[in-house]
Amino acid sequence: MSGVGRPSEIDGNGNVIEKKVVNVNIPVKLIKFLKEKKINRSQLFTESVRKLYEGELCPKCYGGDGIENPICGTRCDHCDYWIKMNRCQNCDSQYQEHYNMFNQGWDKETDKPIFGCWDCLGKPKLQE
Ligand SMILES: [Zn+2]
Ligand SMILES: [Zn+2]
Repeated sequence: MSGVGRPSEIDGNGNVIEKKVVNVNIPVKLIKFLKEKKINRSQLFTESVRKLYEGELCPKCYGGDGIENPICGTRCDHCDYWIKMNRCQNCDSQYQEHYNMFNQGWDKETDKPIFGCWDCLGKPKLQE
């Protein structure tokens, strides 16, 4: 059914991103500048907000209410998407979805838990 124009943007679940026109008040010179540079204002605004609030907004669905910050990084719960991966606090390895995630070990000498990743502490055994 979608005829002309660019294809609709979809979120991490394959749902079409709903869009709406908003009016913004900006300096006339800025409007002139954007026109001269042939900058798409809708795209610019979307990109700006996304960058400004990086880590607070999901770049896939633009939602901010599904954002979680577990030890491994920042993810959007709606899209099941990792926005940013942290480094392991134990060995400094980069966390990586499916390949290197959080794991907890136990230091027998200090009798304290160690927080690390699959690289330094191994993959957790699956519990059936
Ligand atoms: Zn999302
Ligand atoms: Zn590690």
